[in-house]
Amino acid sequence: MKENSLIKNKAILELLDKYQPIWSLNHLITLANWDIRTYMPEEGIEARGNALAEAAKLSQTLFLKEDFISLIEKAGKEKDLNDHENAILRILKRGLKFYQRLPRDFIEEYTKATNDAHLAWKSAKEESNFKTFEPHLEKIVELTRKKAKYLGYEKHPYDALLDEYEEGLTTEEVEGYFNSIKKPIAELINYIKKSGNYGSEHALEKIKYDEDKMKELTKAILNLIHYNMNHLRIDTSSHPFSTNIGKGDHRITTRFEGKDFARSYSGTIHEYGHALYDIQSHEDLHYTPIGGGSSLVIHESQSRFWENFVGKSEAFISLLYNEIIKANDEYKNYSPREIYNYMNLVKPSLIRMEADEVTYHLHVLIRFEIEKELIEGKIKVKDLPKIWNDKYEQYLGIRPENDQEGVLQDIHWSDGSIGYFPTYSIGTALSAIWKIHLENEIGRIDDLAKSKDGIGKIQKWLKEKIHRHGSTYIFRDIVKKMTGEEFSSRHLIEYLEEKYKRLY
Ligand code: MG
Repeated sequence: MKENSLIKNKAILELLDKYQPIWSLNHLITLANWDIRTYMPEEGIEARGNALAEAAKLSQTLFLKEDFISLIEKAGKEKDLNDHENAILRILKRGLKFYQRLPRDFIEEYTKATNDAHLAWKSAKEESNFKTFEPHLEKIVELTRKKAKYLGYEKHPYDALLDEYEEGLTTEEVEGYFNSIKKPIAELINYIKKSGNYGSEHALEKIKYDEDKMKELTKAILNLIHYNMNHLRIDTSSHPFSTNIGKGDHRITTRFEGKDFARSYSGTIHEYGHALYDIQSHEDLHYTPIGGGSSLVIHESQSRFWENFVGKSEAFISLLYNEIIKANDEYKNYSPREIYNYMNLVKPSLIRMEADEVTYHLHVLIRFEIEKELIEGKIKVKDLPKIWNDKYEQYLGIRPENDQEGVLQDIHWSDGSIGYFPTYSIGTALSAIWKIHLENEIGRIDDLAKSKDGIGKIQKWLKEKIHRHGSTYIFRDIVKKMTGEEFSSRHLIEYLEEKYKRLY
């Protein structure tokens, strides 16, 4: 690696040189995973699973090579490293810890189990039959509990799992966070219920659309919102996601249900928010372990920012209006204001991904409570469909009619992503902190989202404060550094109360 404006330290540069084979392997693993989730023929999964398991082992071998470890140790003794150099070291040490603590056989078993589980989940979901997924999930929970032991924790095994997705996040902190939002959200829902419109349907939810025309709208959204389509592509997958393959190659997906276009619309803008974070990382950080976001809380603060504050604003809907009505003749019967109301309906629903901004957090809370008890061994996998449905009834007052819209709805457990969900809600709370500070500095999003120029200003602000740093800072530190504030749920609650007391 060559010295650049952000990375100058000789020991760090030497370490980055040795890191390049690991970087390359990760690049290809990411691409192979994208392929599994988009276009790979179903029967290719076995061979791909084997190849990925071998690649994971190879990555571990490279990390654990003596000369690589000694370069990490040598760099660790350097004085006066800047924030970026320190972060490179911090992330590599985390990787090293992971590989030193998890035995090779375990990683292999785990990779295979999650590959098999992914396919099993897909067909179980299609058939809405939890029974066929149950043995796979049992295996994953068993391996995840083992993983927590290998990785180590101080207070709670779930801490080890949270830490994988969000460095240093603990069960106690997550509980404290949910305790701070549970009551105000329940009160806000009660307020909305009393206004009489709660849970009502909107005619736009029922209107069917043509998938090809909706694809055109998706392209139009990205052309309007983004400034360079040569480094971004969009595809279709059953569970929308964003992936950062490397410099100049960022990919997002969306999905089309055939009706209720706000879902596809919001999914696209959400994933765009993720992609933009990676796209706008500082170019000197390419080919390093910090070139792009690794904190899922910060990542989600970006996707939720675009989805909720820009995508669902009346200003942006008006800006896009001519494209929206091209997607379907019937949409012409609705004004931008009516589409805005449709996109901001508060309604208890069964699917987290389609939830409104208010009830969204209860979906995540349910998942957190279930995961924590699964890891503690207090509940069993076979009882999950009932536990799941009971919690939906308790928190949201509705009950899924089948496993597809209940316990099988999300991809995460099949991937082994246990400990991931809290980042969705905490990231959303972080997005509200960014919003307040951005608006104090450059003006209201409701004004900025009226034009492409204004959207450019939002992108620039986010780049300066957040994106260009890649994974240099953990979420508590970046928010303190950039806003002077400690992370809390205060702005989220204030934002929700202000917006929805106005709408209801
Ligand atoms: Mg997301």
